[in-house]
Amino acid sequence: MKEIEKLINPHILSMAPYSSARDDFKGVAEVYLDANESWYEGTIKCNRYPDPECAKVRRLLESVLSLPYENTVIGNGSDEIIDLLIRIFCRFGEDSIMIMRPTYGAYKVFAATNNVAVIDVPLKPTLELDIDEIKRVMAEKKPKLVFVCSPNNPTGKVYPLSQIEEIARFNEAITVVDEAYADFAEGFESAVSLIGKYPRLCVMRTLSKAWGIAGARVGILVADKYIKDTVVKVKPPYNVSVLAQRAAVEVLSDPESVYSIKAEVLAERARLEKEIANLGYVREVISSEANFLIVRVNDADKLYLYLMERGIIVRNRTHEPFLEGALRITIGSKEENAKLMEALCEYSE
Ligand code: PMP
Repeated sequence: MKEIEKLINPHILSMAPYSSARDDFKGVAEVYLDANESWYEGTIKCNRYPDPECAKVRRLLESVLSLPYENTVIGNGSDEIIDLLIRIFCRFGEDSIMIMRPTYGAYKVFAATNNVAVIDVPLKPTLELDIDEIKRVMAEKKPKLVFVCSPNNPTGKVYPLSQIEEIARFNEAITVVDEAYADFAEGFESAVSLIGKYPRLCVMRTLSKAWGIAGARVGILVADKYIKDTVVKVKPPYNVSVLAQRAAVEVLSDPESVYSIKAEVLAERARLEKEIANLGYVREVISSEANFLIVRVNDADKLYLYLMERGIIVRNRTHEPFLEGALRITIGSKEENAKLMEALCEYSE
């Protein structure tokens, strides 16, 4: 038995994958009468089931983002990938995952839906990883999955690749690096480069942020071929719709447009950070490598409600560890940011 097989749920290891019509016949034919689809194309043109392998999208991910074709699986958003990894590796009611709060809230929700415990090793008050504590707790509690989000949501901080490597080296189970916001981090060093060396390390990316198609739901797992094949076995065969694959192909075929929007977001992020920090009632603006800023005030609830009354919705993060008084504000368009600044300038505590 391979080492990695020992980490996988026995029922997943032994199950036979569903073989869809598009798995049974992968060639090109003139007449398809095998999948009980409608022959009528209409104007939307999605009468046929989607490619279960998302081959076109994955080829573009290889050429545009250097994510190797053989190592990628596409999910219905990276949220689906999180759920699949928990279901594959964690035994219902027995195993655990590890997170470092404050971080993305969905890890613990998907753990809960799968009856999997969550071990939290909080960040240091400086919002850095507490590597010694992470190593200690990994050794003691043996979580099946360790989620490291870099750049982290909601802090916007990138963790040094050397620290992620240290976690991967020390972790006897699976390390999952969530790089949803990677595209906004300048000079970002992706953990994808470590997969060859640490085959139990997985990386997640998404087209929901910089790539601008959150509504289409396209998330990416980059992993060693064995893990990738296991995820393919467990995922619903048609998890990424024809419309979503079309949207992904469209944005990945024109990266320059995406890069120019991203450049504007980065310029606006730098401008807003300075301007917001100059407001008398603002205690701190946490600089960020993602497309949002954390703004700390004395009374986050009051500012949150004030902005809502002005028609501006932000995220109240005041109840997260180390984020007392904090609002998370996404960088919008120049016009949206101008409205935000106008409202913030007219506010007093
Ligand atoms: N990871 C992080 C850190 C996120 O912030 C989000 C979305 N807010 C996701 C994953 C989920 O992204 P997707 O739209 O690909 O499901």
